[in-house]
Amino acid sequence: MTRSGAVSRVLVTSLASPGGSCYRHCDRPLRIRRFASRLPGTWQVRACPSGVVSVTVYTEWTRRDPTASARTELKRRTVPPSLVTSWDLRLATRHGPELGRSAERFLARARPRRGVRVVYWRVYPFRGRDGKERRLFVCFRRGHPSPVFYAAAPDSEANRCPVCVRAAKRSG
Ligand SMILES: [Zn+2]
Ligand SMILES: [Zn+2]
Repeated sequence: MTRSGAVSRVLVTSLASPGGSCYRHCDRPLRIRRFASRLPGTWQVRACPSGVVSVTVYTEWTRRDPTASARTELKRRTVPPSLVTSWDLRLATRHGPELGRSAERFLARARPRRGVRVVYWRVYPFRGRDGKERRLFVCFRRGHPSPVFYAAAPDSEANRCPVCVRAAKRSG
């Protein structure tokens, strides 16, 4: 545990809730991907193999409410940034017992004044202007730094990531 707000490995493991499967899309198991940002805490994206995102989770060991800075980081990675809305972000403070025994022991030893604060970004299926369903997707391709979040029709097989599509057009 450091002063910087990083979350210890014990806690990260406890917070990585057991998978689940893709909501109303494909029933395939969710994968957990991590990415780094300017913030001290930890990011996890839970998405199915096609890239449909179930939830993105930011965890920080802190006294303050990290929701606003998490929102800023998400907007930097989302095309268009207006897909990130305050009402899709939920803050929770986690305590020892619900995180399992090793995390509870860890927190008891640390006697934390800070809490383990968790920001959940969950975008439920929504309708586009054409009336068709859209889902939040994530692209982790190496052509661009960090993940790119975007909305697309749930059945799209092709990669619709706007950053990858733009790059493909440029290269001919
Ligand atoms: Zn899926
Ligand atoms: Zn991409």
